[in-house]
Amino acid sequence: MTDTQSDPTSPTRSVSLLGLGDMGAAFARAWLAAGYSVTVWNRTASRADALVAEGATRAESAAHAVAANTLVVTCLLDDASVGEALESADLTGKDLVDVTTGSPAEARARAAWAQARGARFLSGGIMAVPPMVGQPEAGGYVFYSGSRELFEARREALAVPVGTRYVGADAGHAALQDVALLSAMYGAFAGITHAFALVRGEDEIALKEFAPLLTEWVVSMSGAVGQMAEQLESGDHTSGVVSNLAMQVAGIKTFVGTAHEQGVSPELLTPYFDLMRRRVESGHGTEGGTGLVDLLRSGGGSADR
Ligand code: NDP
Repeated sequence: MTDTQSDPTSPTRSVSLLGLGDMGAAFARAWLAAGYSVTVWNRTASRADALVAEGATRAESAAHAVAANTLVVTCLLDDASVGEALESADLTGKDLVDVTTGSPAEARARAAWAQARGARFLSGGIMAVPPMVGQPEAGGYVFYSGSRELFEARREALAVPVGTRYVGADAGHAALQDVALLSAMYGAFAGITHAFALVRGEDEIALKEFAPLLTEWVVSMSGAVGQMAEQLESGDHTSGVVSNLAMQVAGIKTFVGTAHEQGVSPELLTPYFDLMRRRVESGHGTEGGTGLVDLLRSGGGSADR
């Protein structure tokens, strides 16, 4: 170990953390466990008590927390709470890393706001839940975008709670990829919710036995993602298609009919089916699903591109 690595008072082994909710507290514990000097602040001060007992230093205000270290991490509810918390803090010369979930536009505006106050800025999108923090084998990570210099300088500290993925200088891109992955998760959960609704209540189908089949199927179908990316990049939506849209649209009546037979609302599926139908009606029945991406990007109107 170098002196810098072993000295907890070294600027590269010290961090100020604002926000001690479930996620912020998990980040604080990971840094403490790694021997970092951690200064903490939370709007509701009592939420810091346990961490102080574990070795963190309490800051009396957000401004004091910012003053205590060069590396300042915010993990608050939303972007508005970041602005509120940092309102009276002096950010000159600070490395501000904001892992609060927000939109790409909020991240870009926050980057400009921080730079105008003399700070380097990095926006983070956390791809983990609190129990994954401090557990490298759990595979959690944070997307980071914004100042590459900040990221390189603070890489070691940022890699302590979960893994890191730097995705570019545009401060909005961490949030964009975060939201894109979470949106895919919600779409997948919508399908899983519908599948359970279909089979729930059938005496001869044990949900615990159905669950591994569902997992296996969803994982197996996710193999299409790579081919979708290739088709989108080439602009050719028809090469290598094995399940064309016209065939899939012909099957919609079976899916909606089965839902009704089971007394299940098809509401989670019908928006996707409507898109498929519109794409076929505009003459794209030989495509797979990637034409729907262009349909969505055109606002859902004309499918012709
Ligand atoms: P919590 O709801 O547990 O904590 C929210 C934190 O924000 C608390 O410290 C709260 O302070 C603080 N806060 C809220 N409003 C304000 C304000 N106006 N001024 C100052 N502080 C404020 O959330 P998490 O810790 O779980 O999440 C934090 C961030 O991490 C969020 O952006 C979330 O989207 C993101 N995230 C969370 C995940 C999770 O599974 N938990 C997963 C991935 C990302 P107080 O204690 O005073 O209320």
